[in-house]
Amino acid sequence: MSAGPPVGEAALIDGAAIAAALRERVAAAVTALRQDHRITPGLAAVLVGDDPASQVYVRSKARACAAAGIASFEHRLPADSSPAAVLDLIARLNVDERVDGILVQLPLPRGIDPRAIIGALDPAKDVDGFHPLNVGRLWGGEPGLVPCTPQGVMMLLDSVRTELAGLAAVVLGRSQIVGRPVAALLVAADCTVTLVHSRTRDPASSCRRADILVAAIGRPRMVTADWIKPGAIVIDVGINRIATAEGGTRLMGDVDFAGVRTVAGAITPVPGGVGPMTIACLLRNTLLAACRRRGLAEPALPEA
Ligand code: NAP
Repeated sequence: MSAGPPVGEAALIDGAAIAAALRERVAAAVTALRQDHRITPGLAAVLVGDDPASQVYVRSKARACAAAGIASFEHRLPADSSPAAVLDLIARLNVDERVDGILVQLPLPRGIDPRAIIGALDPAKDVDGFHPLNVGRLWGGEPGLVPCTPQGVMMLLDSVRTELAGLAAVVLGRSQIVGRPVAALLVAADCTVTLVHSRTRDPASSCRRADILVAAIGRPRMVTADWIKPGAIVIDVGINRIATAEGGTRLMGDVDFAGVRTVAGAITPVPGGVGPMTIACLLRNTLLAACRRRGLAEPALPEA
């Protein structure tokens, strides 16, 4: 039996290890799909413009696909592309049989409405889970494609506590890509959910009631130890790049890790917490999309 964390120090939730295990499961299932059905799942990434961070993300997604045996296709369009040109590419990818998942790297350049582009995706290939049909399915408790970062958050919670029913969960942030879908998944897990946002009065007192706290606000170290109920599970989604005194940069979460760790029961680090889960869940979604589109049995994979 493990000795557990020292008193006054939360257990560390090792997202890097949990993500690596998921990627291995996906890779094994991809191999089986190829052997049994001669199918290689494929993921197409659409990158419009030359945002350097987006280029890094797309490259790392392509590397992760290759490691899992998933084919990846990169489609780059110039920053001054018309909405019609982007929609034309989406229409072609929607009918391309090699493509099971389409991800549109956000943000899109000014002048291209992301809602119009996302709304044009075939919902069966919407591996980011942002299409209105998948959003509706998520809130309706129906099967669909679930956004990757929120899915990763739920898997990290599951690694420390499998039964969440009746727990008070507070989600800090209500974005379409993180806060809202995390809230939907927590509702589906029978938590009592509070969404806190920039107009919430006294967010600290809402957070102090939380058995589960998910921080997704993009405000470095805003969540401090005095916001935390003793023993709470704290999931830090925030990724903030902060300048260091040495002239470099470092990543920092939305949670004051060192302080909160003395009060919480379990906590994710940044980096090495939620971040690695996002790409692992993207691979999972691409594999599931490949099976569902063809009416094949889905491989047994960890559930969100
Ligand atoms: P976002 O779209 O900017 O949304 C931020 C949310 O936080 C909004 O709902 C906003 O409220 C709320 N908020 C901002 N300041 C607040 C404050 N002082 N008090 C209470 N609420 C406040 O951000 P996002 O895309 O959800 O991302 C959130 C963070 O997660 C960022 O650091 C991002 O880099 C990170 N992230 C990480 C991953 C990953 O893979 N780990 C993936 C996605 C995002 P309003 O709605 O009222 O404006």
